[in-house]
Amino acid sequence: MQILLTDYQQGAAVATALVNTLPGIHRGGDALPGPTELDRWLADNDLQLGRSARADVLAVHQLRAELFDAITAPDAATLAARAGRLTSTNGVAPVLTPDDNGRWQWQVAAPPGAGLAGRLALLTATGVLATLRSLGHDRFRECSSPACTGVFIDTSRAGRRRYCRPEVCGNRINVAAYRARLTSS
Ligand SMILES: [Zn+2]
Repeated sequence: MQILLTDYQQGAAVATALVNTLPGIHRGGDALPGPTELDRWLADNDLQLGRSARADVLAVHQLRAELFDAITAPDAATLAARAGRLTSTNGVAPVLTPDDNGRWQWQVAAPPGAGLAGRLALLTATGVLATLRSLGHDRFRECSSPACTGVFIDTSRAGRRRYCRPEVCGNRINVAAYRARLTSS
């Protein structure tokens, strides 16, 4: 698995999707309790990392907690240090190789024999660091929906994203229903 250092969109998007599977963020429970759910989540995110086993699920849970700590870091230096721990332990030194168009590209790769969670860690943490470098710490945000405790990384050009899942958390009907539940309980 090779990861382009200049292409941070996918890694940041997968990092956002992964941290928002944490228990307590969406509908209460852990969205990745076992191998079946993890395999489905990987497919939904267009990731071909192989079928997962129980040990992979536990390793992904550990990665998810570390990514959450990085994305919610109080400042850029802390974020860089936390995500940097993930890239330095799961990647080998960058290499320069030509892409399909013959352009030279910096790439990082997971070491031979790296497990599912290790490769996922390299992809997501590289995306986090490249976003920090290109777009700044301001792009790491909490969801604006009062009904949601999710976090996200905004890699949009305009940088005005407000919700972790725009189609759900930005939906006025969902927010109104949440407020109605609060006042009736
Ligand atoms: Zn949200």
